[in-house]
Amino acid sequence: MPSAYSYDVPSCVLIKFGEIVLKGRNRSLFYTQLRRNAVRLLRDLGPLELRQRGGALAVLSPAPADELLARARDLLGITLLHPVLVLEKSPEAACAAAVDLLRDRPAGTFAIRARRRDKRFPLDSRELASTVGRAVQDALGLDVDLTNPDVEIFLEVDKREIFAYTEKVTGRGGLPVGVSGRALVLLSGGIDSPVAAYRAMKRGLRCDFIHFSGRPYTGPESIYKAYAHAAQLDRFQGGTKLFIVPFGATQRRIAAAGAGRLQVLSQRRLMVKVACALAQREGDEVLVTGDSLGQVSSQTLHNLSVVERASDLPLLRPLVAWDKAEIVREAEEIGTLAVSVLPAEDCCTLFASRLADTRAAPDRLATLEDRLDLAQTLDELLSAAECVRPRVERAESDLRLLPVAQPDERATLSS
Ligand code: ATP
Ligand code: MG
Repeated sequence: MPSAYSYDVPSCVLIKFGEIVLKGRNRSLFYTQLRRNAVRLLRDLGPLELRQRGGALAVLSPAPADELLARARDLLGITLLHPVLVLEKSPEAACAAAVDLLRDRPAGTFAIRARRRDKRFPLDSRELASTVGRAVQDALGLDVDLTNPDVEIFLEVDKREIFAYTEKVTGRGGLPVGVSGRALVLLSGGIDSPVAAYRAMKRGLRCDFIHFSGRPYTGPESIYKAYAHAAQLDRFQGGTKLFIVPFGATQRRIAAAGAGRLQVLSQRRLMVKVACALAQREGDEVLVTGDSLGQVSSQTLHNLSVVERASDLPLLRPLVAWDKAEIVREAEEIGTLAVSVLPAEDCCTLFASRLADTRAAPDRLATLEDRLDLAQTLDELLSAAECVRPRVERAESDLRLLPVAQPDERATLSS
């Protein structure tokens, strides 16, 4: 970055908030949480500096600009991001930066859009825009078009600096992870549950994960998948915990107790009971599953409520009204689909009858559960749970193309 007009800062991203600005007196809590999340997710890139500027947060880092942008885009609670130049606070610096930003454009029209958060700056927005516009015309001979320019340069005059940018990248929206509390997600290795977790995170829930494997009656594949999913989802929150519970022997006991067509449902109820006990131990306040109404027989309205009654905690189902195609699209976008579709033996189908009850009778389930020593089984499963800490090792190839803001978002957020 040219040092004539900028601080010696390798990269900076200016982050703008979405719903947070609507939250009145809680706003500062939200800002604090977002800053905490930024530190947690970005500190491995090198020494980080955060500058809160009204409704925006400037994130300064020694990482390359595209890497910082891609990583910052995974922060939840953000509507827009701009890769910016950080300029000294003077009209001259703004002119030099604008000329540099437009230097490689041989032709076309431009507009300078300026705004001041610091009203003590000697030029008002209009004066700054026309001063910088003239400097660009003189230096490069480009034409100004304020209604339909080929390129816009935005200048935001702030407390200690001017931010200059041309690009607007759409953020993921939602709320900062952690502002709504903590959840335990039942993560299967399939397509739905990682998407449900992402949606829960987007509403501000920090998520722990629990996976039930059919071991010793299945291979380890489903564990690898759950691990890969939790690692991918860790991008949005950092410090993720995944608990793995070997469930095969218990499933076998359920089958031996004569579960028949109730096998899947009684397994689900037991999973929920184990998850509740673990959640209480870990300080998680709700459970989250990837259930979608009517998707399979265990997810009829009747059976969903039979499972729900096994839970002492509220059970959230973010995907309850989503179609499979919608879930698949989102799984692709967050990067979990490729792992979900890999083959793995699912513990749920182990010992399960081909015909599952779409309307399981509660009294038959109760009789079945009476035959199992639930208290002891729960204790055994809980103490067999193993905790791992999944994390993605980042590579250059992770830097996917970032979506650019749509025109309506530009309109509301550039003002
Ligand atoms: P997905 O698990 O992604 O939904 P699926 O449709 O194959 O794929 P279902 O059988 O529909 O899974 O299970 C419904 C929900 O129950 C899952 O979304 C998940 O929350 C929970 N669940 C199922 N199997 C397991 C498991 N082995 N470990 C943890 N949770 C599970
Ligand atoms: Mg499902």
